Amino acid sequence: MKSKRIALTVYLVIFFSCVWMCSDESNIYTPDIYETQIDKLSYQLKYPHIYAVVYSPYAVQLTEVATTEETDTEEKMVYLTFDDGPSPRTAEILDILKKHDVKATFFVVKAKDEYTPHLIRAVEEGHTIGVHSASHKYKEIYASVNAYLDDFTRCYNYIYDNTGYERTIFRFPGGSVNNYNASTRKEIAEEMTRRGYIYFDWNVESNDSSNNTGAQTIYNNVINGCKGKNRAVVIMHDAINKKETVAALDNIITQLKADGWHFAPLTNEVRPVIFRMK
Ligand SMILES: [Zn+2]
Repeated sequence: MKSKRIALTVYLVIFFSCVWMCSDESNIYTPDIYETQIDKLSYQLKYPHIYAVVYSPYAVQLTEVATTEETDTEEKMVYLTFDDGPSPRTAEILDILKKHDVKATFFVVKAKDEYTPHLIRAVEEGHTIGVHSASHKYKEIYASVNAYLDDFTRCYNYIYDNTGYERTIFRFPGGSVNNYNASTRKEIAEEMTRRGYIYFDWNVESNDSSNNTGAQTIYNNVINGCKGKNRAVVIMHDAINKKETVAALDNIITQLKADGWHFAPLTNEVRPVIFRMK
């Protein structure tokens, strides 16, 4: 703690010295700007271990590279993603994926201890694990960059402590553009990409968030949603009440294969699919 305080003090002294040296009468900084800069420095100095071990080539200018549809791939690539696990459904999902020899991506939360073995199994079977959220409480985590980093780090540490892997991709709870993060989303995305991470939204919705959605509807949503695309990032959920998702999964994979899709897990080298930030 003491060394961090010293580092922060040194950082601030250098910062204010630079401000003093650069300022002249036509360029006077207002207190508001000081406060913004101090706030930014304080979260940039936070969690020095939360940096991607390998920076994604897409971590710079993410919003510019990621929002255009890719049309030049020879193979149709589909990336199945499951949010909010591990859960009692994870083993069933893993069994189906194994049966079809398909690798997928799990954006995980800080789950109950009893579910953690499923997380470990997913890693062992070659699936990608991405950071999602520790609390999944939108109001709390999107209150500020600091709050987001706190939550992200708790989830990151949960995964690292249990699997030994340092994760390089993540998904925002509710997606990168949602009703809770209008005032913080851009700054959070900038800070996370500064740290070398990239995030994935989706371009095919299974719409399995509603508990009333049946397996046939989930199947139709995914199959129809993939039509006309070369690259599909499909969002589904891995949670205790997602039996219909599990019931649909086998047929979804069978049909996507028949339609000529190739499956792969997301990595930090896959060009992200992200929502456009205004
Ligand atoms: Zn979620």
